[in-house]
Amino acid sequence: MKSILVREFGGPEVLKLEEVPTPRPAAGQVLVRIHAAGVNPYDTYMRAGTYSVKPALPYTPGSDAAGVVEAIGDGVKRVRPSDRVYTAKTVTGAYAEYALALEEQVHSLPGKINFGQGAGVWVPYGTAYHALHHSAEARASETVLVHGASGGVGSAAVQMARAMGLTVLGTAGTQKGIDLVKREGAHHVFDHSKPGYQEEILKATRGRGMDIVLEMLANVNLATDLKLLATNGRVIVIGNRGEITINPRDLMLRRASARGFTLWAITPAEEAEIHAGLIAGLENGTLRPVVGKELPLAEAARAHKEILEAGATGKIVLLP
Ligand code: NAP
Repeated sequence: MKSILVREFGGPEVLKLEEVPTPRPAAGQVLVRIHAAGVNPYDTYMRAGTYSVKPALPYTPGSDAAGVVEAIGDGVKRVRPSDRVYTAKTVTGAYAEYALALEEQVHSLPGKINFGQGAGVWVPYGTAYHALHHSAEARASETVLVHGASGGVGSAAVQMARAMGLTVLGTAGTQKGIDLVKREGAHHVFDHSKPGYQEEILKATRGRGMDIVLEMLANVNLATDLKLLATNGRVIVIGNRGEITINPRDLMLRRASARGFTLWAITPAEEAEIHAGLIAGLENGTLRPVVGKELPLAEAARAHKEILEAGATGKIVLLP
């Protein structure tokens, strides 16, 4: 089968398409024929060798894929060959024609969700769910700012928060991104590339401030996010690419908090809840993953460059 292999950490050019043996499922494992693989920013940090999780070389990137069960190992009960599934982590990597996954890493893909969309489920929607439900403990009638709403996690969070009954404000940096965030359900959308947009956000809340901020780029925005909070407000740090100075007084005045998490550290109980919640939302149509770009598997390097550039419009997925 064809698979992307990383033999050394480095720039996008280290992603090479190679021919490798198709794996066979051992007991408790599932072989998935991949129809689409999702590209996430963390795939690029891991490839560069700068991420907290450093895989043994060589490795195939990717945790998010959607496809069809090709074969199952002994003892597998939850899925059968020809079932449509999405993956949440794999054993052998998602950027390939086939991937081995543990039985508990494959989940039923609802019929109305196509494979490209299925490749955008786990990391983006799992993150949005954990941020809103577990970390922010969001409640209907609260206000949320999705700071960076045009990408994978942001568009997922907009749909989810809207379905939960929150008032949703979102930001994007291009007109295409702004249109997407409006289309996916935000009540108000702002351009984060425009100077002074934070005052417009405060005005939209009539000066009260936000109950929740979901932050995709904390090293740029955390200090100003704190000034946008209402009393008892909370900033949930989802994305961060550097350091920033904040004034803790902005928290004190508002009885506010800033929290962070990584999806790697969630508990099995949280993960089970997340999948149940996501599958229900995918089935009832409130969650509709947005695929902005489909590229052939051979263009994984291009996908890694483009996902770090401005102008997100939902997910980038690779087609084997
Ligand atoms: P993505 O699809 O590449 O989207 C990136 C988003 O950030 C876009 O909406 C982009 O908007 C926005 N952005 C760019 N400049 C911004 C600014 N100055 N202020 C606010 N937003 C800005 O990435 P993603 O998959 O949504 O992930 C978002 C971040 O969360 C990444 O850093 C990722 O590594 C992180 N993440 C963390 C976890 C975790 O477990 N903590 C899980 C998933 C993702 P425009 O392109 O329209 O400018």
